[in-house]
Amino acid sequence: MSAAPSVQLSVVIPVYNEELNLPVLFARLYPVLDGLGRSYEVIFTNDGSGDRSFALLQAQHAARPDVTRVIDFNANYGQHMAIMAAFERVRGATVITLDADLQNPPEEIPKLLEKIAAGHDYVGGYRLNRQDSLFRTYASKVINFVREKTTSIQMTDQGCMLRAYSRAVTDAIVRSGAINTFIPALAYSFSSKPGEVGVKHEERHAGVSNYSFYSLIRLNFDLITGFSIAPLQYFTMFSMLSAAGSLALVALLFYRRFLLDLDRETFGVFTLFGILFFLLSVAMIGIGLIGEYVGRTYQVVRARQRYHVKEVLETAA
Ligand code: UDP
Ligand code: MG
Repeated sequence: MSAAPSVQLSVVIPVYNEELNLPVLFARLYPVLDGLGRSYEVIFTNDGSGDRSFALLQAQHAARPDVTRVIDFNANYGQHMAIMAAFERVRGATVITLDADLQNPPEEIPKLLEKIAAGHDYVGGYRLNRQDSLFRTYASKVINFVREKTTSIQMTDQGCMLRAYSRAVTDAIVRSGAINTFIPALAYSFSSKPGEVGVKHEERHAGVSNYSFYSLIRLNFDLITGFSIAPLQYFTMFSMLSAAGSLALVALLFYRRFLLDLDRETFGVFTLFGILFFLLSVAMIGIGLIGEYVGRTYQVVRARQRYHVKEVLETAA
């Protein structure tokens, strides 16, 4: 978060083990940006890559030092932290994020800029004909639905990282100091005139997704718990309902046994076991949910730095 913008456009790209994609990315991205007729900078964050990505970024910085900046993390902190570190340093009036694997074609950048020029302070891309596995595509439909129901965030495609932000929005994101960052949702919450535009989506140029099933779950937990306490509230309501239901069931069992003198043999044992298991599992879900929030509170209270930057390759502004 520096002073007034000194270039028109900042392009922010997180990089994690993308050695096969970077050369093609450079070859496609820079001509698009050169063709815009605006001053720009590209900020790459090397998110602890174990391959030759950093060497390639260094070479690109040497080739285009005027417009290339490289932030080097000491370890892997995740895509959203990588973007965050770049947001802290952007010099542009408008900021664009995009993936390094060419799933977001750089040629679509002008579309986003048109929307910004039309007065939006945040433009989210949504992927036309998404090129991901069926599982990913459907899982993200489900998450989109849950997010729609539990938060006030309206978004066609939260997973698409081809997005444009006014500098005011990225500065607000940085100032928020959010620990569990889901950039598209954060940006939405600080925007006063969000817009959307359909963008092409390509298959990953090379390699496989860096997201394991586990990290996808973590990411989406960040999204839901980071932006709403609805899960807790639903849980409380559900627990109250189920407690009332169990009570009614027990009353019914007693009524049948003692007033109608039925069920003499089987009175309640199995039913009660059933109820017990059910209540137990409800309690366990609750403990887990509470744990999520407590864990997040702990992280905020602890206030440990979210990532460590080893070095930054750049020329002074
Ligand atoms: N990425 C990152 N750190 C990570 C995982 C991913 O910086 O820990 C970057 C990655 O290099 C790419 C972008 O985030 O530029 C999206 O990652 P990926 O293509 O693996 O995700 P997907 O497209 O499958 O959602
Ligand atoms: Mg990808």
